[in-house]
Formats: sequence, C-alpha cells, structure tokens
Amino acid sequence: MQRTTSGIGTPGGLSGHEAQGHLDQAWRPWVKLLDVALQAAESSAWASAVPELPVRSDAAWPPYAPLLEGASIRIDGRRTRKLVRELIHTADDARDAGAQWSTAMRGRRLDAVGLLHAAIIRDHDAVERIAARAGIDASALAVVAQLAVMPLLHACADRWREHVSSAWTHGYCPVCAAWPALAELRGLERSRRLRCGRCATDWPLPVLQCAYCGEDDHDRLGTLTPEGESQTRRVEVCYTCKGYLKTFTTLRPMVLRTIAMTDLASVDLDLIAQERQYARPSQFAHRLTLTVSRAGARAGELRTPAP
Ligand SMILES: [Zn+2]
Ligand SMILES: [Zn+2]
Repeated sequence: MQRTTSGIGTPGGLSGHEAQGHLDQAWRPWVKLLDVALQAAESSAWASAVPELPVRSDAAWPPYAPLLEGASIRIDGRRTRKLVRELIHTADDARDAGAQWSTAMRGRRLDAVGLLHAAIIRDHDAVERIAARAGIDASALAVVAQLAVMPLLHACADRWREHVSSAWTHGYCPVCAAWPALAELRGLERSRRLRCGRCATDWPLPVLQCAYCGEDDHDRLGTLTPEGESQTRRVEVCYTCKGYLKTFTTLRPMVLRTIAMTDLASVDLDLIAQERQYARPSQFAHRLTLTVSRAGARAGELRTPAP
C-alpha cells in the first residue's frame, strides 16, 4: 500500500464530541440539522416502527441482501411529518436571507411517508417528484430526507444487531445497504470496522480490501494522510474504482452521533480526496425492495418501489 502526504495543512485530528466544538462556523447550520435528526434517533419513539425481520430461510436468502430487504415498515404518519417539518424549518432558519422553503411549501401536500421510503432505498426520482408536488427544492429535500431516515434506520439496526451475519463480506451496510460513512481502525489490534452513517451498523472488512469494488491487490490501494498528522485520520483510496473512504483510529466503537459529527468535522479529508479525483459512489450497490406505510393505512397506501 502506498502512502502519500497530501500537502494540505489541516488543524489537528478531531473525533467525536470534541469535533463539534471545533467545527468551522460555516458548518453550524449542518450541526443544527443533524442535531434534530440525532435527537430523534436517541429517543425510543421510533422503536415501535421496527418491523419484524422478513421470514427467510438462509438457503433461499441471497448473501448480498441487507436485513431490510423485503421488510414491511409501518410508521406513525404524524411523527414522521413532524420530524420532516422540523428538519425543513431548521434548514430554512439556517439559510441565508433568500427564498424560504417552508413558506413556499404547501406543507400539507408534502408526502412525508413517501419521502422516507424514497430516502431509504435512495430513489432520487421519487424525491424529486415529492419535492415538485410540494413546491420545494429537490436537492435540499434530498438532504432533509437522508436525515429524516436516521431515527428509523437506527432503531432497526439497534433491534437487529444480533442478526447481522458474521459472514457479511460486502462493503455496504448489512442492514440498510448504504455505503459506509467512514471506517474505524479500532482498538490496540487496529481491526477495521466499517460504519454506516444512517443506522450506525458496524461490520468488518479486511484492511486491504476496497469497500466499493472489492479490490484486494495492495498495489492498487493507497492512503492519503494530511500533512503533519499522525496516522489517526487518513483517507484510503482505490486506484481501480477511484473510490475513497475516510478512516479514523478509535479505541471504542463510535455511536451514531459520533459517526455523524466525525464525518462532518473531517470535510478537509473529503477535499483532499476529491482534489485528486477520488469520489464516493453515487449509487447504492444494492437497491432495496421494501414497503413503508402509515400505521393504520389501507393496503392501497403502501409505498412500493417504482417499476
Ligand atoms: Zn446502515
Ligand atoms: Zn475500489
């Protein structure tokens, strides 16, 4: 594995709660938004929405399918709308004096349950349709949607922790199919654990294996390290797929809040990678098929993926 020093000066390494205090002023609006989602994720209210694990026999179950595959999720429509609206209002407050989308939005028409479904399976077209109907900006709503799914997905991952297969060998989340937000090199033995930024699931992958394309030729994998820093923060890159993954040395597993804040506080690492033409995949490796409906909704109101 090659090592490269980025040549970009950065402040000292940050992790966890420590990171929040050091965040640049420009990121404060993001911290507020994230905080709304994290507070919801830390309450137990979403646990009631965790569905039964779909019945499956190991023999029939494809080894690449995350646990949410085939799930029928029923969520409290009122709680979902409240969270989405709170995120939209927080985003509005954070924006510079410009068009405010909550005032431009015809709030009742925002399909919050459909939005959660679209966000879980990462259906960009569906988010665009929901945004157009509500009269708001689609890219901003996509950000809100990804934050809004965190409490539900975190509750699922928490409940299903014991069901994550120890034989999972993929780079994407074994619960919700997202690519990892970051990797930890944990403990004295520096075991490599990938961490989901949506549900906080934690799964292993060998040190010399690209999370995105599976490349395991050490000559095709490299590391970018910020100038003047030790090895506690770095970017792992793959010359084959041009993907990158931020990596942090930790003693203990990060909780969801720490994952989110560490990701946000290390934008300098993203820039180091992106300046060198590395990127994170724009599509998930696995497109989930699942339904999301309002608790008490009729069958016709189920959300299923567009054909
Ligand atoms: Zn996940
Ligand atoms: Zn790769």
